[in-house]
Amino acid sequence: MLTIDLKLKDIGEREAIEIIANILDTEHLFKDTIGIGDDCAALDLGERYLLVTTDVIAEKTHIPRGASPKDIGWHIIAINLSDIAAMGGRPLGIVVALGLPKILSVNFLKELAEGMKDCASEFGISVIGGDTKEHEQLTLCGTAFGVVGKEEIMRREGAKVGDVIAVTGKLGRGGSAYYALERKTESKKTIHSLLRVFPRVIEAQVLAKTSSVNCCMDISDGLASSIYQLGKRNDVGFEIDLEKIPIAKEVNDISTNEDELKEMILYHGGDYELLLTIKRERIKEAIEAVKNVGTSLTPIGLVTKKKENVLITSKGMEALENKGYEHFRGEV
Ligand SMILES: [Mg+2]
Repeated sequence: MLTIDLKLKDIGEREAIEIIANILDTEHLFKDTIGIGDDCAALDLGERYLLVTTDVIAEKTHIPRGASPKDIGWHIIAINLSDIAAMGGRPLGIVVALGLPKILSVNFLKELAEGMKDCASEFGISVIGGDTKEHEQLTLCGTAFGVVGKEEIMRREGAKVGDVIAVTGKLGRGGSAYYALERKTESKKTIHSLLRVFPRVIEAQVLAKTSSVNCCMDISDGLASSIYQLGKRNDVGFEIDLEKIPIAKEVNDISTNEDELKEMILYHGGDYELLLTIKRERIKEAIEAVKNVGTSLTPIGLVTKKKENVLITSKGMEALENKGYEHFRGEV
């Protein structure tokens, strides 16, 4: 008999999550708790939700050689807060579990802690606990808590046909850093900017209060991959206008042609901006609200009835590819 022994590398991270989610039961969810499938879990507290999210990074997969311990410390806090932001939450605190090689220098550990403190305090919270264990490679896992009003929560579901799709900030910084690393042209600044993610915590809270947002997620795995995830979740399609996508300066510095530019802004992770669908009649208000806190919000396309994701370029229309960063699918 033929037995199929699938490996995680054959199915990828998202299917792996589906397998786990199908086994775990949802019978005992506390009241209106929101479980697996959004950027955070949300526990029902009556008028509000307690948001909980966890994110792990490991030396081999996430931390480029030459990264400073301060930047690594910043990064583990920042990526967790980005998930709190994706749901419109106000961060409350974070715990961090550290897997540490025993040969790690004490100075490295001190600077790692400094970096964690810097990021947490930038967003008005503290690291409130954690755990340390001996481990063969540096592995950090953060678990962040936040709170959001039930009326204000932003979720991955809710996109409506006709909504404007918009992103905060500029895209491609993460992608350009990967390119530089691959070409071995990276500088200390490249690695610094890759790890010094600035989660859109303030922008998200401001947007959540406008009631203009129909759905939201953070773009940790790349724009195209995020679009596909939202499309599947909401049973809609997206029409993205390539020329409207706001591009990070680093992309222009390194890309040599349009294909490379597209790779960096569409198909690479690591940007941690917010991707939102916004009621068409409220888009100006949303842009203004984000501008008032010093950030840009840029419309890049529309939600469509046709369940296809397309890219409009100067040459016409083409299919947006369903690719981006996905764990387990990388090189093995
Ligand atoms: Mg996320």
